[in-house]
Formats: sequence, structure tokens, C-alpha cells
Amino acid sequence: MKADILVSNAQIVTPSSTFPGNIYIAEGRISAITSGREEGAAREIDAAGRFVLPGMVDEHVHMMDPGFTDREDWTQGTKAAARGGITTVIDHHRSEPLVYTRKILEEKTEYIRSRAVVDYGQLGGLDTDNLEHLRPMWEGGALGFKGFICELHGVPDLSEGVLLNIMREARTFGATVMLHCESDSILKKAKEEIDAQGRTDYLSISDWRNPESEYVATIDAISLAELTGCTVLVAHVSQPRLLDAIHAARERGVQIYAESCPHYFFMDTDTLKAKGPFVKFTPALRPPAVKEGMRAYLGRDMVDTIGTDHCPFPRAMKEAGVDNIHEAPFGIPGVETTVRVMLQAVNDGLMTLNQWVRICCERPARLFHLYPRKGCIQVGADADLIVVDMDREETIRDADIVSKCKWSPFDGWKLKGAPVMTLVRGNVVMADGEVCAEAGLGEPVQRVGG
Ligand SMILES: [Zn+2]
Repeated sequence: MKADILVSNAQIVTPSSTFPGNIYIAEGRISAITSGREEGAAREIDAAGRFVLPGMVDEHVHMMDPGFTDREDWTQGTKAAARGGITTVIDHHRSEPLVYTRKILEEKTEYIRSRAVVDYGQLGGLDTDNLEHLRPMWEGGALGFKGFICELHGVPDLSEGVLLNIMREARTFGATVMLHCESDSILKKAKEEIDAQGRTDYLSISDWRNPESEYVATIDAISLAELTGCTVLVAHVSQPRLLDAIHAARERGVQIYAESCPHYFFMDTDTLKAKGPFVKFTPALRPPAVKEGMRAYLGRDMVDTIGTDHCPFPRAMKEAGVDNIHEAPFGIPGVETTVRVMLQAVNDGLMTLNQWVRICCERPARLFHLYPRKGCIQVGADADLIVVDMDREETIRDADIVSKCKWSPFDGWKLKGAPVMTLVRGNVVMADGEVCAEAGLGEPVQRVGG
């Protein structure tokens, strides 16, 4: 088969090695990887000795469309992802209607089809009473499931009893359950105290969404994973001691994994004190020493995956919390900055590019049954690639943001290391920072192995 595209002069990065080579692409997939030049291709992209990585598989986005298109929509959100070096997004269930049944899931898959610029998949939502809908959602193409241990965003908290049954069920067909871990009762007690004191200051968020609540709920999640054998991914872990607990459990055979997000390695309570509503999310930012611990753990393979937790709001909704932090919603945009921020972590010497590929690409693809079609550079994989310039220095500017919200919590940050080209199944969707793809190019992903 003659290749359609040749990516030449690449430094190819996998989780285990970096080597010079040429990548041949035919019909959207990698058809050959060679050290020397073989036959030509219809089109050649010269990587000029730069690193070529798999595109990021972002397991954690909230595009909020259909339903909340004042916040984000599929076209803007996936253009932002393409600009950011993300080639697959996995959307969570909090669009309208909430994705609690196979019918809603399938309708949403079709709704997105004409709108997305990068490939996409979905997690089914876990409700207090939709246990019988889990298998149908799985059969309808869900990549896994998502639930909240605490009440949040109007979604009810899931008790241990509900979760036990959910995990037993998900275990029967091998689905990963992703959990937002904060203890509902600890949060409520903390909030009562904050309200009784009349606190509206920025640090009341880190006292409310406190480390103890995250710790207790995560230990619950570990226990439930251990009892059921279900694969569990703890969302947005913010503390090294939780990474310790999760890895100790894994060593005794529990299928539990830790996701974290860029902000927990680069921001802390000092950032919260300064930026308030624009870094209001939950779990909240932790003290500087905790952030330093997170940074130290990156290179020690203690962080299993990185997600963006892209959850944008219009600037005005965040500004509403400037005088009273409780008036602003939880959530920040992330698809445009996460690859860059985590490349900065590589440039800071916190981890290698190989480790970057493992946590941003390979492991998310494995946990959500997309590997080896996504998340790797191998013959037969989709040609989802990013060309990365590790020496490129850029200042993140709100004015450059493609996401509908038009702001970033990293506004003004100078970052070194950036994707300069993004390919989705061999299609160039971003070149030199410019998104050059139309809505409809993105396709729904299929689980590998049924
Ligand atoms: Zn989230």
C-alpha cells in the first residue's frame, strides 16, 4: 500500500524509548515506521528532527454540549483541543440531558458527529438509580462510567452502597469506573462552619473542599475497588499521600489508578489567594508544600494519568465571584494548555518525555479500551500525532484562546515546549498554532476488543 503521508526526520517518542525514524501513514493509520527512507508518499511532513508524540488522549472533558453552549460547544472545544495537541477527548455525562441511558448516549454520539474536529468518546453517567442502564450504555459504546462521591453540579452523591453495586456490575464487563472523590459529609460540615463565619474569601474554597474530604473518599474508592475487582480511576488527585495510598493498593493487586491535572503541579493556595474565582475548582488548590510533593512524584511513576478536566465558564460567571468567591462556579478550561504545561514539567526536569507519553496518551487509552488504536505510535494505530518543539517559548494569552470562554487560568504564564502540529488520523488539524480543520472531521472512537 502506498502511503498517503510521510512524517520524516522524526524523533519518535514511546513510553519506553526515543528513536529517530520516519512514520508512514495510509488511510489514516500508521502503515510503517522505518529508520531509513523507503518509498515516498503523496505528501511529506518534515519534522526536522523534532519530537513526534502520540496526540494526548484526554479522558476528562466537559464540553457541556448539548445544553450549555454559552460555556462551550463541540466545535470550539475540539478546535481548542486540536490547538492544544489533544487528538481524542472523552466527554463526561453532564450535558443536557444527563447521559444516564443508552438512548441518550447514542443520541449524543450522533449529535457530536457533525461538530467535532478531533475524535471523541463518552463516559456514561452514574446515578443513584440507573444500575440497570450500565450494560446497555456499554453496549451502546460508552468507554466507561463516571460518578461523584459528593453532591456536585446538581448531581447527587453516590453512597458506598450504591457504588458497591455499580462496581460489581461494571466488573462483569470490564468497564473502568472514574470517580470524583470528596466525602460529602466532611464537605457539608466544613461548609456549615464557613457559612457560620460568614466567610467569602478566596481561601475559604480550600478550607471547604479540604484535603481530608478527598482523602476519606479516596480510601473508600480503594476499598470498593478491592472488594469488587472493578477497575477504578480516581479523578483529579491533588495530594501525594493519596498517590501513596493508591499505589500501595495497586501493589497488592487492586485495580485502582490516579488521574491528576496540570494545576496541581503548578498552582497552590497562593495562586488561589491571588486569582480567586479563576482558579476555583474542586478538589481545591493545596498549600505549596503539597504541590512540591506532587511535582516530586511525577518522575517516580506515581501519577497514572493526566486529564484536563476542561470545564469552562464565560468570564462574567467567574467575575461574579470576585467579591464573594461562593458566587462563582467550579471549573476551569484546560484543553489548550494541558499539553504545554505538562511539557513544561518535562523541561523542568520533573519527568521524561517517555513518561509524558505514558501518562498523557498510553494509560488513558488503555483504561478506556482504546489501546493500541489510540495513545501510541505503532503500526496499525490511528495516525494521531503531535510534533513538539521542546525549545519553543510561548506566553499563554487570553486573547489567543480558542475555547469559547476566551480565558485561561495560565494567562500570562511563559511556558517552554509546545505542540507545533497536530494530526488526527493523518489529517493536519493544527499547524503552527493555527487550527486548520472543519467540524465533522472528528469521529466517534470504538472500543478495542468489543
Ligand atoms: Zn471533571
